Amino acid sequence: MRTLIVTSDTGHEHRIPPAHAEQPQRLRAVQDALGEPPLHQLKRLEARAADRADLLRVHSADHVDRVAACEPDDDSLSGLDWDTYMSRGSWAAAVHASGAGLTAVDAVLDDQADAVFCAVRPPGHHAERDRPMGFCLFNNIAVAAMYALDMRGLKRVAIVDIDVHHGNGGQELAEREPRLFFASIHQSSLYPGTGRAEETGLNGNVVNAPVPAGTTGAEWREAFERDIIPALTAFGPEMIFVSAGFDAHAADPLGGLLLDEADYDWVARKLAQIRGKSGAARLVCMMEGGYDLGALGRSAAVFTQALVEA
Ligand SMILES: [Zn+2]
Repeated sequence: MRTLIVTSDTGHEHRIPPAHAEQPQRLRAVQDALGEPPLHQLKRLEARAADRADLLRVHSADHVDRVAACEPDDDSLSGLDWDTYMSRGSWAAAVHASGAGLTAVDAVLDDQADAVFCAVRPPGHHAERDRPMGFCLFNNIAVAAMYALDMRGLKRVAIVDIDVHHGNGGQELAEREPRLFFASIHQSSLYPGTGRAEETGLNGNVVNAPVPAGTTGAEWREAFERDIIPALTAFGPEMIFVSAGFDAHAADPLGGLLLDEADYDWVARKLAQIRGKSGAARLVCMMEGGYDLGALGRSAAVFTQALVEA
C-alpha cells in the first residue's frame, strides 16, 4: 500500500512525572525506528492542529475547556486525574496528536496514500466525551473518525483497537454513533476494566474480544480472526482507523500478553485485506500505548513496513 507517516515534534513537549510510563522518549523511539531503512524513504507529513470544532465532534465543550485550563504556565505539572498530567506544551501536543488523524484522513481521501501511520503522543483511546483519563487528553482516533464522517463525506467507518488496554473512549462514541463500528482486542481485567464481550453497542456495532493474561501471539491471532474480522468485514467500513498500541508485546511492563513483532506484522496485513464498499482498503493508524521503548520502536516499524508491503 502507498504508505506515509504523519508526526509532530510537539509531542516531545508534553512532560509528565519522571516515574510515569508514558514518557516523551516513547515518541522518540518510534520516530527513530521509522527513520531506519527502508522506512526512511516514506514521505512524512507534519500533523496539523485540530481546532475546537474538530474536538467538539467527540468531546463536550466542558471537557475541551477543562483541558485548556489545566495547562500550567510555568514548569510545574498539573493533574487531570491520578495518572493523566499536563505540562506547559501539553495543549499543543494534544491538539497536534488529534490533528495528525485529520492530516492522515485528508492524505488518504485526497489520494496521496492508502495507509498512514501517525507517530504521536499523548495517546488518546481512553479519553471519553467528558473525561480525560489513562494518559489521554483527547481521543485522537475518534476525532479523526468523526472528521471523516462529518467533514469528508464517508458514511461508515471503523475503529479497530489492538492496544492491550480496552479502548473505552472509542466504544463510548460508538454507543451513540451508528455510522461507527468499534472493535477491541485487549487483556481482560486490565485498566480500565471495560470491554466485556457482552458490551455490543447499537445493534452490534461494538465487538469486544477480551483475552486473559498470558495469551500467546497465536491465541491472540485466533481470537482476532474469529471475533473481529467477520464483524468488521460485514460492517463494510469505507475507512479503518487503527488504535495501534503496542503494549500487548511480551516485553511490555504494563501488559501481560505475549505478542511479538511478527504478530504486529500479521495484524497489519490482515487489516490491509479488508475491503469496504468502496473496494480499496484504507487505513489510518494512530500510535497509542507501548511502554518498552525497544519493543515499541521495533513493533511500530514492523507494523508500518507490513502496510507498505501489503
Ligand atoms: Zn495501552
